Amino acid sequence: MIILNHIIDINEQLEEYFPLTARQRAGFKKLGISTIRDLLWHFPSRYKNYGTNKKISGLAAGEEVSIFARVTKIKAEKTWRKKINLAEATVTDGTGNIRLVWFNQPYIAKILSGYSSYVFSGKIGLDKKGLYMANPEYEIAEEMPGKNIFSVYPETYGITSRWLQFNIQKILRLIKSGEIKIDEPIPENILKKYHLPRADRAITHIHDPIDEKKSEAARKRFAFEEIFYIQLTRTRERINRSSKPSFKLKEAVENVKEFISTLPFRLTNAQRKAIFITLKDMEKPKPMARLLEGDVGSGKTAVAAANIFSVIKQDYQTAFMAPTEVLARQHYKELIELLKKYRIKIALITSSECRKFPSKAFAGQDTHISKSQLLKWVRSGEISVVVGTHSLIQKDIKFKNLALAIVDEQHRFGINQRAAIVSRKTVPHFLSMTATPIPRTLALTIYGDLDLTILDEMPPGRKKIITTTVSPKERNKAYEKMREEIKKGRQAYVVCPRINPADPEKQKYSFSPAMDMKTVKEEAEKLSKQIFPEFSVGMLHGQMLPKEKEKVMENFRKGEIRILVATSIIEVGVNVANATIIMIEGAERFGLAQLHQLRGRVLRSNHQPYCFIFTEKSSERTKGRLKALISANNGFELAEYDLLHRGPGELTGTKQWGISDVGMDALKNIKMVEAARAEAQNLLKEDFELKKYPLLEERIRESAIIHLE
Ligand code: ADP
Ligand code: MG
Repeated sequence: MIILNHIIDINEQLEEYFPLTARQRAGFKKLGISTIRDLLWHFPSRYKNYGTNKKISGLAAGEEVSIFARVTKIKAEKTWRKKINLAEATVTDGTGNIRLVWFNQPYIAKILSGYSSYVFSGKIGLDKKGLYMANPEYEIAEEMPGKNIFSVYPETYGITSRWLQFNIQKILRLIKSGEIKIDEPIPENILKKYHLPRADRAITHIHDPIDEKKSEAARKRFAFEEIFYIQLTRTRERINRSSKPSFKLKEAVENVKEFISTLPFRLTNAQRKAIFITLKDMEKPKPMARLLEGDVGSGKTAVAAANIFSVIKQDYQTAFMAPTEVLARQHYKELIELLKKYRIKIALITSSECRKFPSKAFAGQDTHISKSQLLKWVRSGEISVVVGTHSLIQKDIKFKNLALAIVDEQHRFGINQRAAIVSRKTVPHFLSMTATPIPRTLALTIYGDLDLTILDEMPPGRKKIITTTVSPKERNKAYEKMREEIKKGRQAYVVCPRINPADPEKQKYSFSPAMDMKTVKEEAEKLSKQIFPEFSVGMLHGQMLPKEKEKVMENFRKGEIRILVATSIIEVGVNVANATIIMIEGAERFGLAQLHQLRGRVLRSNHQPYCFIFTEKSSERTKGRLKALISANNGFELAEYDLLHRGPGELTGTKQWGISDVGMDALKNIKMVEAARAEAQNLLKEDFELKKYPLLEERIRESAIIHLE
């Protein structure tokens, strides 16, 4: 690092100060690090304690220690009997010698050199030849470090935790000497009120864990900061949106009664309430912004249909967006069924085709239309409801008067897509529906701009899914149960974690071999030929063409396919009431919320549903999770479990919600989330544009961009 005699801008490219190899450059790109600030904000995932410092002469077997020593001898060899590759070194610190042994890491013999001194850390063992240290960690050092606790960083190919630690320490020294400034975006009074350390101190303490309490306080500060920014962004969106005009519906609650009386079932009280609330929202001149959260099978579609009915009753249009093509088609069909009586024109748009109901030529049927035809009819107002996938938010789709946008399973859409659909002059009402059970803290954060309605009631007569984990020995028993149910007329899903068998060549050097993973193709073959030759077995996965998928779903819906072997593609929303059994293979590979969604596929009628869970490898962690799955009464309980038992570095948060590991920590603490929310609201009330806090404004803008990606 070139140290210059002036203040270094923390926003400068890392490369300006650190010479990087091509491999490191690629690694940093993958970690999303390009500036010095990014590097500083790459926080340790944990801290590791390396034991007490000792001199070699004072060592005893069983101790965990660190020694500071030089290598005098080193060699690699194969043990004679067990054929294990060994690297063995002798090191000295002037007070004595000790052997260091590494198993299965012969390359270490080439790495360690006699010209450097190292800190070796590990446990002391005793064998016939005397004391030794097994598989010690090692690190080049100029002297014995004063502390034994080190930061461990998330790594990637080309960037080791050690490199990060070493170089971040360098930057910390520049912060100390004043050559790098860390500014403070959070208002002073908020820091004081919640006893949060200032940014400059916190950044040092989170990387340099000399004092556990201080590192913890630092982590808390950054967690608060992240949630605070999201809350500011969401609260602002909310205020912004509610200041715009929308389509005010007249007597929507009164009008919808006609529709409700034609439904083939009686609404649950929860559905009634949700319909009432959403229609009341739309009777106001401000745009509705509501999240309808209800466990799988709680009947969200009927609520959506009632909303749609009320909107088209007044000659306005609705857009209904679904995350997958399968689901978009299904909603299209359901809406045709539910709204048939009202001669409403409904269209479907996906990347592979467009359709319209009713067809001009064939009464009571739908038909294929061209995209340009669809665009024309949507623009003229001829089509009232458009159901679609992402294709629905393309720029070329213009509506005559879009008054309602509904998004199903919205967590699968980026927030920018959410924004795109409401970024119009007259803002449409917005109803978002999800079955993804998320903890309250997370809902308050990522959906902070939405009002929340929960469907906490299942249609009457639904039975609790009998969920069991099945050991390899009991597999056949599970198949027999499945046979029995199918003979009674039911249908089944079998979910596998992969589509194709793994290529054995590629798997040779993999750390988590995919070799024993069940695949859709192999299971479909096995089930249809060996286990259930008497039933027809179908296959559904993402590598099939949309047309093929559609055909399989149609045949399954009609009952011509009795067993559907699929990937987790069926996780969202697929609705075949007669399917009452689901077998999940390799369940440890799915998240808890995902497993819950999957089993929700069989809770669509009043038959007794079953969920059989198989695992390939079962750790304690997996066992705990599956136990929670079996005993949980609803998705929310599971979501809370998932959040509390999340290991560090788990990707679900970052990937799915755009929240970092540190931020996810904050979500375990409802008080912190509520505080961040309250402070965000107070601050914006007093200063909507944050004119007094330009730094804060800048940071929110940056973090909003990250959340848009
Ligand atoms: P989800 O909330 O998972 O989207 P759906 O809207 O797909 O659930 O509804 C699940 C099933 O339950 C559908 O077959 C639907 O027709 C049916 N259903 C919805 N509401 C009721 C009700 N009140 N009584 C009986 N069946 C209902
Ligand atoms: Mg649904």
